[in-house]
Amino acid sequence: MTASLAALAALLALLPGAPGKGKAVAKAAAPTFVAVVDPGHGGEQDGAWSPTGDREKELALEISRKIAARLRKLGGRVVLTRTGDIDVPLVNRATIANALRADIFLSIHLNSMPSAELRRARHGIETFFLSADATDASAAAVAARENASRMAGEALADEGDPVGFILQDLESAAALTESSRLAYFLHERLVARTGAQDEGVKQAPFYVLAGARMPAVLLELGFISHEAESRRLKDPAYQETIAQAVADAVAAWRSADRHAMR
Ligand SMILES: [Zn+2]
Repeated sequence: MTASLAALAALLALLPGAPGKGKAVAKAAAPTFVAVVDPGHGGEQDGAWSPTGDREKELALEISRKIAARLRKLGGRVVLTRTGDIDVPLVNRATIANALRADIFLSIHLNSMPSAELRRARHGIETFFLSADATDASAAAVAARENASRMAGEALADEGDPVGFILQDLESAAALTESSRLAYFLHERLVARTGAQDEGVKQAPFYVLAGARMPAVLLELGFISHEAESRRLKDPAYQETIAQAVADAVAAWRSADRHAMR
């Protein structure tokens, strides 16, 4: 908790107008967009496991780093919500993006199935944006699994319905429309580039997306619970393919609607 608050304070210091930031310097180095890439889980939260013991938190970080590098090549300023194996409360992840006035928030995860039979059967890429109601029971199950990595203190801070609450917020509602567009841009390119099974674009009540005030998408980039897919997911070349598809999608999304990037 202390470590992530320190990280948040460090990020807040990067805000335009923050003390110690010269205006001329900020202007000269102005990025064309700001993206926050959120490697799922971390620290005590392993996320899902592969059949051979790879952990979602590790692969999510590796892939997130590659995505960040590709987005920087596009001219973006990219901040990761964690750069090491540390706990970051789910609620802080969107808060970081809001504090940076990010244009995009991407939460990076790997999917998992509960039973041996389903672990053998299910593979592919599933892309999510926020909704109070899940698309179907399977989407609800994914959200429930990802929401379970809320830290102990967060359950108390989260009384009421954060998703329902945020949908009453007009600014967030506008971002939600844009989230849907961004989700389709990402999903189509990811499936085309990787050749992975198309598991669709879906909606579900993801706690990590609920507070984001900008287009926000949660990517389940493959099933870590599937033996062959988990092997691909830890292959650096496959990770680069994913990262390039994400960067291409962001570039296409930006040029399709310049108004999206204020
Ligand atoms: Zn996850």
